[in-house]
Amino acid sequence: MYDYLIVGAGFAGCVLAEKLASVTNKKVLIIDKRNHIAGNAYDHYDKAGILVHKYGPHIFHTNSKEVYNYLSQFTEWRNYQHRVLANVDGQLFPIPINLNTINQMYGLNLNSDEVTDFLASKAEKKSEVLTSEDVVVGSVGRELYEKFFKGYTKKQWDLDPSELNASVTARIPTRTNKDNRYFTDTYQVMPLYGYTKMFEKMLDHPNINIMLNTNYKDVMTEINYRKLIFTGPVDEYFDFQYGKLPYRSLEFKFETLDQEKFQETGTINYPNDYAFTRITEFKYLSGQKHEKTSLVYEFPKSEGDPYYPIPKPENAELYKKYQDLAAQLENVHFVGRLATYKYYNMDQVVAQALTTFKKITSSELLAEEPLEKT
Ligand code: FAD
Ligand code: UDP
Repeated sequence: MYDYLIVGAGFAGCVLAEKLASVTNKKVLIIDKRNHIAGNAYDHYDKAGILVHKYGPHIFHTNSKEVYNYLSQFTEWRNYQHRVLANVDGQLFPIPINLNTINQMYGLNLNSDEVTDFLASKAEKKSEVLTSEDVVVGSVGRELYEKFFKGYTKKQWDLDPSELNASVTARIPTRTNKDNRYFTDTYQVMPLYGYTKMFEKMLDHPNINIMLNTNYKDVMTEINYRKLIFTGPVDEYFDFQYGKLPYRSLEFKFETLDQEKFQETGTINYPNDYAFTRITEFKYLSGQKHEKTSLVYEFPKSEGDPYYPIPKPENAELYKKYQDLAAQLENVHFVGRLATYKYYNMDQVVAQALTTFKKITSSELLAEEPLEKT
């Protein structure tokens, strides 16, 4: 008899497995339909011996000390600050748009104050910022929006930015300083030996059993368990009874080149040309030294593994219906990017799982408290 059956061995499932096993001494079975743990953060050495991320580049960044400290129990880290260039009009520009981007694009030599005025003169006044178009046009104007955001977003989501919630392009800020980093979080680190090694350590506990290559639906009736934690797609759990929640997928094309270096920085974005959105060169992320180099190209797709929930109002409404169903199930917890239909980064999923663990333990403690005699 297991106390918890956990579906999905990504961040959501593994954090909860680890906490339940090591802090509350619960017996846990974690199941994944894939042939590996670590979910979309899974990394492995390719044929050339270069560490690559099977489901696209995963760069860890967080402002949460709690999340950083928690994961630090299972890995050492390497400092890595991701930098991205965008290939626009045949030149490479720093993205997020910042003072360097503007000076390079317009052949200017503005300072921070001057670029603030420059951008204000370009920006369109918006009474309300509702869509991904509003966010960018309202801060840098239409020309830069069309060069850096419109094409990339159309390719990535097959939607015009005006059809997507503001939160999508709001992930990419506009800066008036010369900070070329993709992220400004306090902690910007990569697991020194890779994500998969970190997950192996998390799950290395006598109370945790792992079952791979298994769809939970095929084994549910044969397993004895008290409570379920579900981290797969929430609509799948409820047999799509209100219809399918839309997810965006990707196809990854990997390539190893017989040369030490391919591009100038970890990732180069291609907003306006080609069918792929970006190329990432893994050795920047890992710091690995190797005479060859491995890359991944990302081709957005509508069909395939569900990678991105699509943030737009009608999808939120449909999710709400599933969320209401989920809330009625006392013994099932829905956690993670697919189960809560949220465009979450890794650290946000870890934080969500840690919060769920706290809720579980406090509700169990309440349930165990003896009733007061009246
Ligand atoms: P997942 O990692 O998706 O794990 C869910 C698991 O459930 C999967 O392993 C799946 O196989 C399993 N499962 C589903 N259905 C079943 C079933 N029926 N039976 C059994 N098992 C099932 N985040 C960052 O912070 N930084 C980044 O740079 C970054 N880059 C990304 C790049 C790409 C291309 C993508 C797609 C995501 C990126 N993310 C990044 C987000 C990150 O991948 C997620 O936040 C995180 O992996 C979510 O963890 P999770 O446990 O919720 O889901
Ligand atoms: N985006 C863009 N141009 C860029 C980078 C990002 O238009 O050069 C938009 C696009 O809509 C993308 C979103 O901003 O989907 C979020 O970008 P991020 O790099 O965070 O995407 P992820 O790494 O999650 O795929």
